[in-house]
Amino acid sequence: MKKILVTGGAGFLGSHLCERLLNEGNEVICIDNYFTGNKRNIVHLMDNPYFEVIRHDITSPFYIEVDEIYNLACPASPIHYQYNPIKTVKTSVMGSINMLGLAKRIHAKVLQASTSEVYGDPVVHPQPEEYWGNVNPIGVRSCYDEGKRCAETLFFDYHRQNNVRIKVVRIFNTYGPRMHPNDGRVVSNFIMQALRGEDITLYGDGSQTRSFCYCDDLIDGLIRMMNTDDSVIGPINIGNPKEFTIKQLAELVIELTGSKSKLVFLPAPADDPQQRQPVIDQAKEILHWEPTIPLREGLMKTIEYFKQL
Ligand code: NAD
Ligand code: UDP
Repeated sequence: MKKILVTGGAGFLGSHLCERLLNEGNEVICIDNYFTGNKRNIVHLMDNPYFEVIRHDITSPFYIEVDEIYNLACPASPIHYQYNPIKTVKTSVMGSINMLGLAKRIHAKVLQASTSEVYGDPVVHPQPEEYWGNVNPIGVRSCYDEGKRCAETLFFDYHRQNNVRIKVVRIFNTYGPRMHPNDGRVVSNFIMQALRGEDITLYGDGSQTRSFCYCDDLIDGLIRMMNTDDSVIGPINIGNPKEFTIKQLAELVIELTGSKSKLVFLPAPADDPQQRQPVIDQAKEILHWEPTIPLREGLMKTIEYFKQL
């Protein structure tokens, strides 16, 4: 039985990760400050004696003995990470320093949930790990993008300087049950709007693209990465390479919900990336991983969840 720390464990992805790790027979300690996470996401795990939840903000140091650390704490939706941008930077930078310092002291493996946002509004398409990105350092998205980029820097410097056992994965847009219904991300927004019969809000002309990965596939990729030997440090892209325009996503959500909602076009937000698709050759070769759940199937499961809310 491994003892595993999950930061951000009460969030969307963190709660799925805690559940999977417990099901695989591990002891899991979840820390979260509940900024965007919720106890509702993990309440079904509370009866498990091998699950422990601690309210803690990772911008402060945390002391524990564990074998592995998954560092997921950080608001992920543009509305939430722009609500208090200075705090977002602190969470990525100070939070990473605290988790890396902990990993250094206790010789634990530590995995960073990085993001496709490190590629910014990419001019190389699709995006391989070697691409350095096209990021505005002073825009409204920079607190998230540059925070995550600095976190990657810290991970690699702790590895080079202190031999910390790091794993960096770059997660592309992931969706599924337990997404926050009001976090403004495109999948949750469109489903909520369709179920309520409200207008579906397309920002810009809807021709921008994203590649959507279902949460179960993503969690499988994270665990495979953690279980690689110490020579595998990443960064490795984890995401679904099937690319859709945002308009196609809207039409699919309308079809699957049977909604009468209409599409409306609103101004595009600043620095909105125009295209995004992961190259996942490394994930395939090194992790023997690729997504298995098509968008249509994943959306149906997600729609069922939102219907029950
Ligand atoms: P989420 O907002 O649901 O989860 C983040 C969790 O971290 C929440 O429970 C929140 O309360 C917690 N948190 C935030 N700041 C904290 C702090 N300072 N201290 C302790 N806890 C804190 O988001 P998610 O979609 O589950 O994302 C999880 C991780 O994966 C994030 O690091 C995110 O950047 C990364 N990621 C997600 C996606 C995606 O599409 N979902 C894509 C790329 C990267
Ligand atoms: N988007 C949209 N309508 C919405 C929410 C988002 O058209 O109601 C667009 C948004 O402008 C972006 C894409 O959908 O181009 C994905 O947005 P999201 O916030 O989900 O993720 P990110 O931009 O971080 O990939």
